[in-house]
Amino acid sequence: MKNCSLIIKGKYVLTMDNQMSIFNDGVVAVDNDRIIAIGGKEILKKYKSEKIIDVGNSIVMPGLINTHTHAAKVYFRGIADDLPLSTWLEKHIWPAEAKYVNKNFIKNASALACLEMIKSGVTCFNNMYFFEQETASVANKIGMRALIGEVILDFPTPSRKTPKEALEKTEAMILKHQDRELISVAVAPHSIYACSRENLIKAKELADKYSVNLHLHISETKKENEDCLRINKKSPVKYLDEMGILDNKTIAAHSIWLDDEDIEVYKNRQVKTSHCPISNMKLASGVMNFKKMNESGLIIGLGTDGAASNNTLDLFSDMRVCALLHKINNLNPEIASASEVVKMATINGAKALGMDDKIGSLEIGKKADIITINLDKPHLSPVYNPYSHLVYAVNAGDVENVIINGKIVMRDREVFGVDEDEVLRNACKFQ
Ligand SMILES: [Zn+2]
Repeated sequence: MKNCSLIIKGKYVLTMDNQMSIFNDGVVAVDNDRIIAIGGKEILKKYKSEKIIDVGNSIVMPGLINTHTHAAKVYFRGIADDLPLSTWLEKHIWPAEAKYVNKNFIKNASALACLEMIKSGVTCFNNMYFFEQETASVANKIGMRALIGEVILDFPTPSRKTPKEALEKTEAMILKHQDRELISVAVAPHSIYACSRENLIKAKELADKYSVNLHLHISETKKENEDCLRINKKSPVKYLDEMGILDNKTIAAHSIWLDDEDIEVYKNRQVKTSHCPISNMKLASGVMNFKKMNESGLIIGLGTDGAASNNTLDLFSDMRVCALLHKINNLNPEIASASEVVKMATINGAKALGMDDKIGSLEIGKKADIITINLDKPHLSPVYNPYSHLVYAVNAGDVENVIINGKIVMRDREVFGVDEDEVLRNACKFQ
């Protein structure tokens, strides 16, 4: 018998590996940060541990990956709803950000966001906002995995006076976090309408210099496309492609108004998409062409976007809405099947962030980012198909345990590494 640091046992172990293997009465053995064995009860004959989490009638699966968010925007949850994007942004969000956002705001709001994400089973998030170092520190302290990107805009922001300063800060963060376990850094120019051609190219040069991801919004609204067609005589995707911006390290949030040629560009350049269905529906931005993009073999992850346009960071809700939206939009119930959508929230999310060598599935050698979902609930009984429950029946509150990088971050819904009462008190004070 070999010793290991943690053993997790549960009724259904969903691996999300290439074969979509499921182990009934499955066991995962973890040593330090990695999975060292996975399978049925036979694992218990080979491995023992002082720490065993036996979750009984539960799903054990990879942690969810939120591929596009603005975490600290949780403090603007519900500040303005039911408005067109331009009014919402110009009259409410941007003035509120100018008035309230500072380092302390980001620190406190990021703690609330991380707490909300962990409690809904998210173990890794891709972030774009201000004072990103604060978000990185909070995530690191709680023990959460994050890809962070200081937003680059042509105009002054609460954290940076110029885009040059934002690029310099990004470079400093890349160097600082090069060898960090949980935190990695992306270059994050906001979009083609908030960044000049010159700044987009500089952002891409910086991303290339360190071989890191470039994270931006692409084709979120019809207006973005129409303006780009009018000014540049081409679609946003072609405009970016001609600049040499798009490649397999591009994480493109939204990508709603893509035509067939744009989808072909994404395919040729291996661009990764972060699909944010709830935000897109709430702001009435449009419906992403999931069918065509998925059939083209594009990698599509799921994102919540910020809580000002969602209004939660609960990826289970986005899973359900994603499945329902594309069925009704295509009048075809076979589109966006449950297992496909669970892949989007796990392994394809990892692929979108370029982290699938480390996370996204439960396999030997991968990092132990694991969540468990208790099925002993009226709304989760009986169980014919775990994927079906995850997409159509599970709520965020059903997530019971969260393990990240081999460490127990939440046990029986108690999150360690953060004072939950204090985080909630701070949020009330802000309001
Ligand atoms: Zn966004």
